[in-house]
Amino acid sequence: MKNLFDIQDRLALVTGSTRGLGHALARGLAQQGAHMIVHGRRQEAAEEAARTLAAETGAKVDAVAFDVTDAGAVKAAIDPLIERLGVPDILVNNAGLQKRGPFNDFDPADWDAVVATNLSSAFYVSKAVSPAMSERGSGKIVNIGSVQSKLARETIVPYAASKGGVALLTQGMAADLARYGIQVNCLSPGYFQTDMNQALWQDADFNAWIEKRTPAQRWGQVEELVGTLVYLCSGASDFVSGQNVFVDGGMTSVV
Ligand code: NDP
Repeated sequence: MKNLFDIQDRLALVTGSTRGLGHALARGLAQQGAHMIVHGRRQEAAEEAARTLAAETGAKVDAVAFDVTDAGAVKAAIDPLIERLGVPDILVNNAGLQKRGPFNDFDPADWDAVVATNLSSAFYVSKAVSPAMSERGSGKIVNIGSVQSKLARETIVPYAASKGGVALLTQGMAADLARYGIQVNCLSPGYFQTDMNQALWQDADFNAWIEKRTPAQRWGQVEELVGTLVYLCSGASDFVSGQNVFVDGGMTSVV
């Protein structure tokens, strides 16, 4: 019987996969047989993460480096990558940045960095890949959102605004690219313990808030994102596009 979720040998690029959620997502795709392209800001870090992933999973793994906030650098890295490895079947726009602080004190330079890393980057990287995907007539793009794409909170306003933008970028791209056989969806995680939010998971009050605010009463485990990602990257979701799928222990289902 055909495996609906088969992604064996699909070429998959996950941005920001040197560590954190991106690395876990890349590992999950590799474990399902995808040919992974690990991405980092620096070549050395990307190559080291690629070696780790290949050793962990036995999958075929390549590496690429570029700053996702620099449109020129993105294109200069992706064009030769496509020449070398072919057109990715799967693109996961995961690289991200969080900065916290009271709205009245927020530095405009920090606003720019957050919006560039979380939102503009998804446009730049998708735009570097989608014309070739369109020409081929197939592709899966998954933008990593957040519960903040739906529930903005105090002290995290630019991050929430950028992730709200990611959700609508997803809808718009999905509408534009469906005619070329490309599905674009957003995967929005709840709270997962990574470098990004280390200060939060080391804070007893925040842990108490997570338990109270999340119906599942806990943080997520990174592996719990993989099933939804594989679904969104496989033929099982060929008629699913422009959606924002929350993997958050129920957080966004309650107010
Ligand atoms: P981390 O801070 O642990 O990892 C971020 C990754 O993005 C790193 O690989 C980093 O590379 C890369 N990156 C950041 N800026 C750039 C840049 N300018 N150019 C290239 N690469 C860059 O974050 P998480 O793993 O926690 O987050 C991953 C994604 O998941 C983000 O989009 C985040 O918003 C989202 N998310 C995370 C949640 C969580 O609870 N952790 C919840 C909801 C969403 P480098 O090593 O070079 O810095």
